[in-house]
Amino acid sequence: MTQKRTNKTVPIPMPEARPFWEGCKKRQLLLPYCPHCQDYFWYPRPFCPRCFRWQVEWRQASGRGTLYTYAIQYRALNPEWAEDVPYVTAVVELEEGVRLFTLLVDCEPQPDKIRIGMPVEVVFEDLSEEVTIPRFRPVREEKR
Ligand SMILES: [Zn+2]
Repeated sequence: MTQKRTNKTVPIPMPEARPFWEGCKKRQLLLPYCPHCQDYFWYPRPFCPRCFRWQVEWRQASGRGTLYTYAIQYRALNPEWAEDVPYVTAVVELEEGVRLFTLLVDCEPQPDKIRIGMPVEVVFEDLSEEVTIPRFRPVREEKR
């Protein structure tokens, strides 16, 4: 029997993002990369949004970045998230230069505990047997 690990709606992977989701299952953060522009882009598309070439590679990202912005959510607009408030929605800027919308985890949802520009690293959460999603947590200072 397949056991669901969350009571929340689980993302449905689209074909153009399949490598991303398969990477997440293996605890790898894969990003679309254009060899012509020699740069990453986000979100996944079957073509490069700069040069429009249909030659997209998938490369493993470092999983490290910084907190670009965030918001502490005290009210759940979706009832599925009611048990989770307060939680922290965030935009993380990866070392590869792309920004991901995500959740900040392993961090007290207090304004004095969260700092724009703080170093963060990817962690993976299994939402179901099929879908694993990246989240980000603060990099602990003692790890340096
Ligand atoms: Zn390009």
